[in-house]
Order: sequence, then C-alpha cells, then structure tokens
Amino acid sequence: MVTSIRAAAVSHVGKVRSNNQDSGYAGSSLFLVADGMGGHAGGDVASAIATNRIKEIDHDYPTAEDAQVALQSAFLAANGLLSETVFEHPELTGMGTTVSALIRVDGKVALAHIGDSRIYLLRDGALKQVTTDHTFVQRLVDTGRITEEEALTHPRRSVLMRVLGDVDSSPEIDTWTAETLPGDRWLICSDGLSGVVKHDLIAGILANVESPKAAADRLVRASLDAGAPDNVTVVVVDIDRPADGAQEPVTVGSAAAPMQFDQEHASHTRALRLPTLRLHPARPATGPTHFEPQTDDYLDELIEEDQRRARRRKLTWTLSGLLLVVAIALAAILGYEWTQSRYYVGESDGRVAVFQGVQQSLGPISLSHVYTRTDIPVDELSAYERQQVEGTINASSLDDARRIVRQLADDSSD
Ligand code: CA
Repeated sequence: MVTSIRAAAVSHVGKVRSNNQDSGYAGSSLFLVADGMGGHAGGDVASAIATNRIKEIDHDYPTAEDAQVALQSAFLAANGLLSETVFEHPELTGMGTTVSALIRVDGKVALAHIGDSRIYLLRDGALKQVTTDHTFVQRLVDTGRITEEEALTHPRRSVLMRVLGDVDSSPEIDTWTAETLPGDRWLICSDGLSGVVKHDLIAGILANVESPKAAADRLVRASLDAGAPDNVTVVVVDIDRPADGAQEPVTVGSAAAPMQFDQEHASHTRALRLPTLRLHPARPATGPTHFEPQTDDYLDELIEEDQRRARRRKLTWTLSGLLLVVAIALAAILGYEWTQSRYYVGESDGRVAVFQGVQQSLGPISLSHVYTRTDIPVDELSAYERQQVEGTINASSLDDARRIVRQLADDSSD
C-alpha cells in the first residue's frame, strides 16, 4: 500500500525568552521536537546537536521494530555527542535536551521519548497524550503524593528527571511501537504549547483545521495569545492524506539556525570535529531546570521543602489579610468621625433642626442625626427659607449652624 504523509513543523521564540532553545524536524519518515536547556550555557546548542544527529536516521525502514532500534541508538548517540561536546567545552556543563520523536513505517509508528516534550494522537476527534512526562511532578503524581490538578501549578513543574545531556552516559529512553490508522493525526510539541494551551483547545484546533501547516500555525498562535512564556514548537503529522508533491524535510528552531564555530572557545585539535558549533558562554543562567535525584530521601527532602514554602506562603497571606481588615476598619472609623464633625440645618417633625453629620447615607446607614430641634415651625418661614431648610443648609461648624437658626428665628418673628 502506498501511503503519503503530509506534515508541518513550526517553532517560535515566544514572547518572553530572548532565544529559541527548541528545535523541530519534519522529514520524510522521521518527525521530532527537542527542547533544550542549560544552566550556564546553550540549551539551543543541546537541542540543535541532538536534532541534527537524530535527523541522520530519517529514511525508510522494513519494520517499525527496526525503526524503534534505530531511534534508541540515535538517541544514545546524541547523548554521547552532548557529553563529548561538554567535555571539550566545560562552559556548556549542564546543557541538556528533551527529545520526542516518531518514525512512520507503513501502518505503524516507532516512538522514542525522553523529557517533557509530548506526543499526542488525534483519532476520531479525540486527543490522547501517548508519552509520559519525565518530570519531578509526574513522579509525585505516579507515587500518589500529589494530584494531577496540583501538578499543573506545582512550583517544580518544569524540573526534569531525565534528559539527553552530559549527566548520564546511558539515560533511560522510552521507546515503543504503535498502530496508526488512516486519518490519524500525530502532534509532537514542546511544553511551550502543552504547558500553556489547554488540552481541549489543542484538540479543537487539531480536529478542525484541515492542513497540518495551518493547524501548527494556529497552535503556535494559541500559545502566543496566552502570553507564550516559553519557546513553542509544534510538529503535526497526518497519516494518509494526498501529498502536494514531494515534501521537503523541514528543520525549525535552533537546529535551523546556521551555527558557526567560535574559535576562542575551542581547543585547536578538536575544532575540526565541531566545525559548525556556536557557543554561548556569556548567556545568563536561567536557573536549574533538570537534575538527577538518586534516592527517595532526596525526593522527600524536596517535598518537605515545598510544604515548608506553602506554609510560609499561607502565613504571609493570613497576615496580609489581617492587616487589610485593620486598615479598612481604621479608615471607616476615621471617615465616620470626620462626618460627625459636620453640621447642617434642616427640617425634623415640621420644625427647624440642627443635624450632626452629613446628609449622605451609606446604603441603609444614615450618617447624620438630629443634634437639636428648635421650636421654629417650618411652615412659618418664608417660602424661600422653607425651601432652603427642606433642602438643608450646610454649616461650617456648630456655631455657624446656630447662627443660621438664629437668622431663621429672627426672620420668622418679623
Ligand atoms: Ca520549554
């Protein structure tokens, strides 16, 4: 059976990061996303090295199992290349990369995965994640320590347990094969998509946008609309759609940028082995993004630290809340005291009266009361004065209010 594949790869630096450490590749039968990271140096170097190494196995395979073996050894080769690069360039120590890849072989796919980039399958309108994140929080979820819900906002949600890099010479890579059916749509993406755009929105776009390129663009757009705090890379692979002519392989992200070797940072003898590498020793650290905890004690320690932090946060919130309540109460008291230093002249029970407070009320709460009621009937005032009193006359002080009352008394007795 002749099958055709249409695929697209799109990568964007996002709205916050200054450089793109993601790489993506859509080839003839191989598709992948790599999300690089580095404490003191080049995550972009790491994802580019891994992507360019794994790209070399983009060809036809007799069976999916053969492709699976090829992926496994290409991942390990990329890991070795990263270690070798760090050995020659210690300023790159700590660099690493996720890689999620699939190879299409007739009615099957071979998959390989390490890190927290993700592979999803859209089949019959339903989107399912087929990879498991190799993250600290996923391990906490798996061991029942936190819920899936808590994992979404956990402060350590970006900490990776496994990556390709210089830490482990034989990292544990998930590889397997799966059936694929006509009409299947595969998505490979970095956490700049899956960690930012809701699952249902991703599913909706994939289900409703016809062309893989348009769908990939829409997904990246959705991440940008949500603020795109991270690099975002999307590869969409459609199975069994008519191809628009032969499809050229597409490389995106840092692996697509031409890299030049920086002579100053190379030992002369190894320079020939790394002719296209640009190093970034001056790039500021972005904080720890991956580690290799060796024992459960270490995990427990981290969990305890998180709990301590949560308790501190709660205490801070409680204190802030109390302070706010006190401030509001104080403002209310001061405000009320101010109103009670004001006086005005008005009408009460048909007589002229001096009121303490202000005419306005605060909802059902009146901010004034009768201070003294005179025996001057409002009816006996002139029409003009009656109207004034009924509408209330502001006084600048209690003495002023008494002066106004005397004036009215004189006028009414005339
Ligand atoms: Ca990322």
